[in-house]
Amino acid sequence: MKNMTLDNVAKACGGALHLPEGGHRKEDFQEASCVVIDSRKIEPGGIFIATKGEKVDGHRFIGQVTEGGALGVVCEREEKDCPVPYILVKDSFQALKDIAEFYRRQLSVKVVGVTGSVGKTSTKEFIASVLSARYRVLKTSGNFNNEIGLPLTVLSIRQEHEIAVLEMGISDFGEMHRLSKIAKPDICVLTNIGQSHLEKLGSREGILKAKSEIFDYMNSEGYVFVNGDDDMLRHIKKKGNHEPIHFGLKPENEIFASDVFDKGLFGSQAVIHANLEVFQVEIPLPGIHMVLNALAAAGVGMQLGLTAEDVKQGIANVEAVRGRSNVLSLSDCTLIDDCYNANPGSMQAAIDLLSMASGRKVAILGDMFELGEGQEQLHGDVGAYAVKKKIDVLICTGKLSGHMYEQAVHTREAADAQEKKEIYHFAERDEMIQILPKLLKKGDTILVKASHGMEFEKVVEFLVKRD
Ligand code: ATP
Ligand code: MG
Repeated sequence: MKNMTLDNVAKACGGALHLPEGGHRKEDFQEASCVVIDSRKIEPGGIFIATKGEKVDGHRFIGQVTEGGALGVVCEREEKDCPVPYILVKDSFQALKDIAEFYRRQLSVKVVGVTGSVGKTSTKEFIASVLSARYRVLKTSGNFNNEIGLPLTVLSIRQEHEIAVLEMGISDFGEMHRLSKIAKPDICVLTNIGQSHLEKLGSREGILKAKSEIFDYMNSEGYVFVNGDDDMLRHIKKKGNHEPIHFGLKPENEIFASDVFDKGLFGSQAVIHANLEVFQVEIPLPGIHMVLNALAAAGVGMQLGLTAEDVKQGIANVEAVRGRSNVLSLSDCTLIDDCYNANPGSMQAAIDLLSMASGRKVAILGDMFELGEGQEQLHGDVGAYAVKKKIDVLICTGKLSGHMYEQAVHTREAADAQEKKEIYHFAERDEMIQILPKLLKKGDTILVKASHGMEFEKVVEFLVKRD
């Protein structure tokens, strides 16, 4: 890793370098092969940062990593008998960020930072898939988007990488400022301003302000791509030397889609208009929101010199991420695995998708966390929406989802519908799983979605195993 010697790393994090008896060895001047916080991922010549996690204290594994050939260790307490040099710091998590920030400055890689309330991971996947046509790309693995995941991702960039596509997620003010300092994005992409993390950010204005911290350390020669269909992002002012570039379904955006044809669970087709080019694309992931994500990727790709053909290929090749609108064809039902996370915006999008299925539509929806004061109402709204969208069986699960259930029942009673939709509520996930087989029928399309903390992957596992 370029310039990542122990001396430089110690300076970068303001730590004190302690040498084992006998002083410096020849190898101590080498560049580290990797920097990790997970002792299982250490490679010979790598640096291990010992962090105190909620469950495990990384300091326990210092012996193990030094035996495995670590170059050195960053830690919060004195390690008298440590056979390799160690860097003593006050706060290992802060050291991780400082070291990543230093490393980023050594690299000539271009960074694309992706943020927004929903669609960050999906957009990151589209952008990485498109850019792979011409560049060696590193992308955030999974959802590693916070103050631990982002620095670790930066530290996984290697000299061969030409572009890094980094997901940047936050839940409070100041966090994005710190992430921006580490990532120093050349290109920023903002997907939308929704209603997630209202608890700490207060309002959509607050969310916009917090997300806008991404510009704090942006390259002033860089470009900003925003969803121009979003009422708040549309008004973002010039950043650095360039005006923001808007993408969206509406033709007033510089990059827009026309002739959008929704193929339901099988994705969509659209004609993209970008940089005076007009070309048709096949978007393999379901939901109209994926057209927006594809547009963002088209914009970034063409800004970085890709042809319409490259963009088309990249979009067609994008793969679903587990737990995010991942459509699975099982032997007697179709499963929409969207268990990874949920908030009001993405719940609506997922219900829209389910409503396009043929046959009976079953929605297993769980609690959405971190919504702040209006959480009861927001759950209620989802219940009402599901009924309006003619979901045949709505299974609300979790404490907050009681409000979803009540509002759904209320909406059903108010509607003068001929056929009565089935609506259930279970306080606990496992209780619901037990009853679930009785509620399902052959040929159903089943949506599974809740906040991460509800662990709805267990529902998906149950349905897949049952198959
Ligand atoms: P997280 O905050 O958990 O990291 P995220 O911002 O990375 O979420 P994704 O994981 O990409 O978002 O998508 C979350 C959910 O939102 C999925 O159900 C997905 O289908 C839906 N979604 C994806 N893109 C959009 C979009 N542009 N607008 C609305 N919903 C979207
Ligand atoms: Mg994500």
